[in-house]
Order: sequence, then C-alpha cells, then structure tokens
Amino acid sequence: MPAIYYGGYDITYILILIPVLIFSFWAQASVTGTFNQYNKITNKRRMTGYDAARLILDRNGLYHVQIEHISGNLTDHYDPRANVIRLSDAVYGTASIAAVGVAAHEAGHAVQYATGYGPIKLRASIVSLTQFASQWSIYILMFGILLQFGVLAYVGFWLYAVVAFFQLVTLPVEFNASRRALTALEEGGSLDREELGGAKKVLSAAAMTYVAALLSALVQLFRLWTIVSSNNKRRR
Ligand SMILES: [Zn+2]
Repeated sequence: MPAIYYGGYDITYILILIPVLIFSFWAQASVTGTFNQYNKITNKRRMTGYDAARLILDRNGLYHVQIEHISGNLTDHYDPRANVIRLSDAVYGTASIAAVGVAAHEAGHAVQYATGYGPIKLRASIVSLTQFASQWSIYILMFGILLQFGVLAYVGFWLYAVVAFFQLVTLPVEFNASRRALTALEEGGSLDREELGGAKKVLSAAAMTYVAALLSALVQLFRLWTIVSSNNKRRR
C-alpha cells in the first residue's frame, strides 16, 4: 500500500521538521537579540570592531590581511580567496562589546587560514562543489525520478549529502574561530572579564545558527532519502 507507506514517511518528516524549524527561528532571533543588546554597550577601552580585528591580525603577523567595510546587518565575514575581512555597518566603527566580539571572530578565521587549520582547509576545498550541489542536486534527483533513471536520482541525493557535509565541517570552523577570538581578547586585555561574558554570549548565539543550518540540511537529506528509496522500491 504505497499511500500509507508514503504517509508514514511524510508524518515522520513533519515530526522532525517542526522542532528544527522552531530551533532555527529561535537561533535567528537569539543572535539578533543578543547582538543588539551588547552592541548598545560601549566597551571600556573604546575599541572598535576594526581596532579589535587589526590588533589580532597584527599580533599574528597578518599585516597583509585587509579589513574592509561592508553594508548590511550581520554580514560580517572573512573571505579566504581575497584574504580580506569584511565588517558590517554595526561592527566596523562601533566601539561596543558585540562589535569587538564579532570582529575578533572574523580575525580568528584569518588566523585559522594562515596557520593551516585542517577543517577550514577542508571547507575551502569543497566550496565550489557545495555551491554547485546546493543549486542542482534537487533538480538532478527529480530528473532521475521523472526519467525513471535510478542512478541519476542517487547522484542528486549524494550531491545534497555534500551540502550537509559542508554544514557539518562548518561547525568546528565556527566554534574554533570564536574560541580563538575570546582567548585573543582576554590575553590582549581588549575586554575585561564582564565584557568577555557578553562577547561570549553573542558568539555562542551566532554559533547556534550554524547548528540550525546543519539540522535543516539533515532533515532535508532525510526527506530526499525517503523519496529516492521509495521510488526505487516502487520500480522493483
Ligand atoms: Zn565565522
């Protein structure tokens, strides 16, 4: 009875999808809320996001890594191809606890890259494949099913598995960058003990959005697996 078979899987899918969606919304709200809260508090040394990132880069001998300004909200990132840190409106020139925390995190990525930290190298090596996979995997899978070409459907599935794997590799990269940031801010005396607690809250909230992205990818992967495998069973 294929209808019940399908129905069973759909219910399982919805049951795991709902908590993951709730968690994702919570993580997003939490990072915005925590950032806004600690972006209102000026740090005692009046250090801007730019200052914090520059200090950490220079202390690690990374004088050549540039820091640029980028528009948008929470758009801060480190670009390994250009070897440039881009800091957003609310971070670049702001002397808050949150701005210093976020900027130090991005500097942490530059240090990871410079020191050959394994997970960031692995992540960089699969960026192109991941971009291709996230764009085309679903179409390839659907074409495989439509054309009754099972191998193609599985290729689509495994391509999506690359996307999920990329999200998995992102976790150690992100957690490690935050750990480096907090250590650098503490050792350099940029933030005091109380301020460090605030920066840690902002970075932990940001890390949860990456956990949410991984969980969402895994839920999607599960759904694709049920589609591909049930299609294969029906054909047999
Ligand atoms: Zn990061």
